[in-house]
Amino acid sequence: MAFDSLSEKLQNVFKNLRGKGRLTEADVKVALKEVKMALLEADVNFKVVKNFIKSVQERAVGQDVMTSLTPGQMVIKIVNEEMVKLMGDETTELVLKPASELTVIMMCGLQGAGKTTTTAKIAGKLKQKGRKPLLVACDVYRPAAIKQLQINGEKQGVEVFSMGDGHKPVNIAKAAIEHAHKNGFNVVILDTAGRLHIDEDMMTELIEIKENVDVTQTVLVVDAMTGQDAVNVAETFNGKIGVDGVIITKLDGDTRGGAALSIRAVTGRPILYVGMGEKLSDLEQFYPDRMASRILGMGDVLTLIEKAQETIDEDKAREMEKKMRKAEFDFNDFLEQIQQVKKMGGIGDLLGMLPGASAQLKDVEINDDIFDGTVAIINSMTKKERSQPDILNPSRKKRIAKGAGVDISEVNKLVKQYEQSKKMMKQMSGMMSGKGKRGKFK
Ligand code: GDP
Repeated sequence: MAFDSLSEKLQNVFKNLRGKGRLTEADVKVALKEVKMALLEADVNFKVVKNFIKSVQERAVGQDVMTSLTPGQMVIKIVNEEMVKLMGDETTELVLKPASELTVIMMCGLQGAGKTTTTAKIAGKLKQKGRKPLLVACDVYRPAAIKQLQINGEKQGVEVFSMGDGHKPVNIAKAAIEHAHKNGFNVVILDTAGRLHIDEDMMTELIEIKENVDVTQTVLVVDAMTGQDAVNVAETFNGKIGVDGVIITKLDGDTRGGAALSIRAVTGRPILYVGMGEKLSDLEQFYPDRMASRILGMGDVLTLIEKAQETIDEDKAREMEKKMRKAEFDFNDFLEQIQQVKKMGGIGDLLGMLPGASAQLKDVEINDDIFDGTVAIINSMTKKERSQPDILNPSRKKRIAKGAGVDISEVNKLVKQYEQSKKMMKQMSGMMSGKGKRGKFK
């Protein structure tokens, strides 16, 4: 999970601080030294760390903190606030012109950073907002890149404009804009060519596009896993071509988090989105406050709720709630619930958003395979068995176990779990409707 190791170290520092009733100036200094080490180990830019610690220290050793009843908590609050400030204070959105005008977004970045994937992810987000985006293949050096954009565009249901590899990128961009005007598109997203390293040709090509096309937003894509290199890349691109916003990809695989914590402070450019996986839906808006909260182990319940709202069909959820209240929940519903959780992202990621969970789960390997056995068992049941689990007798269970390739004890376990959940739902709905107020619960 993103920021795991940094998060763990900071939480240990804070545990010690909380454990002390009163704090001396020396206590705070020791704690901040540990915070400094943790940030450096997370590959946060050295200058950024220095300034960060200085700001926290100035605020934390003041009289107010020392004489407060909970100085440890106060210090943590200050670290949290300074971390939010570091990452940009406010959420920055991609700037779009009104829908009646054409917005041109130029995506740039090094090869392998995740530019083509992210371009398609952004197109999906814009489509959700009611825009009509056109993807443009400007990477004429890698035929595979054009193909990849076409495949991803198709997955997102977004048209891809391509002229093959025989034209200059600036001319492709111009032709694409003309095509967009003629065909009612209101956002053009240019997927430009990357190179393995920053080189003059790449920069010249990007500058040429910017000089000849009215680019609304220049968006840089960098790979979180490359740490400080990503920060250097951002600084160079911003200096040479001017960048409006940065997208950090592969944060799902980056346990350190140095790039996300340094880019804003070093370049002054905001982080717009973060890539959290390979799937085209794995792009999250960047909220500095929520990210700080995640890093400090305070969870990110808001993102969790949003994910649920995005993936869960409200009508179905209401129907499910009704069934639960009446304890009519069957194996079809069970299967549906598993699929919903899978759609929301890995279980590990979801749990990591709960306050305190990431520290507790750090040594536990959680992957989505844990549902596979259950899904196989339910899939081996007939329609009738799924909707009326009461008819499951030993011979039916034996057949199901064989079909699912598991031991019969697994089937028994699942049926037992189901029966227990049902019993619990009955009790709960009884309590909620007031029936349980007397007797047992009083
Ligand atoms: P480009 O050369 O910059 O266009 O990079 P691609 O879009 O081809 O991406 C390079 C690789 O990174 C591909 O295997 C992508 O699936 C993967 N990738 C892109 N974004 C993410 C992300 O946010 N998380 C993960 N885990 N992989 C990503």
